[in-house]
Amino acid sequence: MAAVHRHLCIFTMLDMIIFALLMYRFSMVSGPLMGFLILLTAAAICGTGLVLTLRFRARVPSFDHRIDKLLSNLAVFFLVVGALQAFLGISAGDIGLVLQSGLLVLLGFATRRRIATLHHPMFVDWYGSGKEGASKLSLDEVYASCPSCSSLLAVIPSRLSRQDRCPNCDGLLVTISEEE
Ligand SMILES: [Zn+2]
Repeated sequence: MAAVHRHLCIFTMLDMIIFALLMYRFSMVSGPLMGFLILLTAAAICGTGLVLTLRFRARVPSFDHRIDKLLSNLAVFFLVVGALQAFLGISAGDIGLVLQSGLLVLLGFATRRRIATLHHPMFVDWYGSGKEGASKLSLDEVYASCPSCSSLLAVIPSRLSRQDRCPNCDGLLVTISEEE
């Protein structure tokens, strides 16, 4: 579960960096005053985001909800900007822009999936417990994240077979290299 937590922290930081880069690009295509305001807003949001992520990393109570809000807003931002760029790209016949907006939309969905992890009862339980608590797990179950989509799963290693698939993305849970 600590690995899932670390992954969420890193993912949030990457989201913030991409957000900052997008805002920087918007400021470049705006007038000087508007550009300055955009940069100011971006700096404020990134500063807040950094503080939230550090608190979340230290497992300060209730900061999982704040990260949830931050990621929700970023997901909406990526989806809206992605959709607008796709529209602009298509009307201008600019393939590069269309591809780029496709990536943004994917990023928006990936971000939404991380929010689902944040809401996962096991994660909520672990975050609040302050230690690696296995309270809600049966004896032989362990936490694992899906190798393809990183969603959180409880698995029983002795019963895991090569045919088992992730309920979220339908990817195989056992990769060849992981087999003993
Ligand atoms: Zn999966």
